[in-house]
Amino acid sequence: MNVNSMRIGHGYDVHRFANEYSENKPLILAGVSLPDKMSLLAHSDGDVILHALCDAILGALGAGDIGLHFPDTDPQFAGASSGDLLKHVLALMDSQERYLINVDITVIAEVPKLSPHRVNMISSLAYLLELPEQQLNLKATTTEGLGAIGRKEGIACAAVVLLAGNA
Ligand code: MG
Repeated sequence: MNVNSMRIGHGYDVHRFANEYSENKPLILAGVSLPDKMSLLAHSDGDVILHALCDAILGALGAGDIGLHFPDTDPQFAGASSGDLLKHVLALMDSQERYLINVDITVIAEVPKLSPHRVNMISSLAYLLELPEQQLNLKATTTEGLGAIGRKEGIACAAVVLLAGNA
């Protein structure tokens, strides 16, 4: 493998919880709809994990960020499925003849508890990314009660990806 053809990318996203749970805005993380009765405020479905992942891939491609590709002022993306946004980003990656080597994701949240959903979230990510599960890692941490995340005001996510390609 030619190391000169490798590209690293980093993405970060935060979404704030809505004051009240809304049935038509379920909590979706890594493409999985979670049973927890909390909603994130977002123009799209608010999937912070997929948003951080999109930004990490776009970063590795040198292709700007998610806001550039899917403006939140564009009604076309209102309520958009983040899986569809990710598909668009993966198509861009394909068009540059690059592919994923590995993905490392860190969710930063006080709530909900993600460990019961970890297996489902990993298989969803493997499916969406068309990547073997051994090449992706999902972890979660809290902020020990500090700051906005610690006050349970929202969820943050950081993602790092490594891509390889021919050029
Ligand atoms: Mg976002």
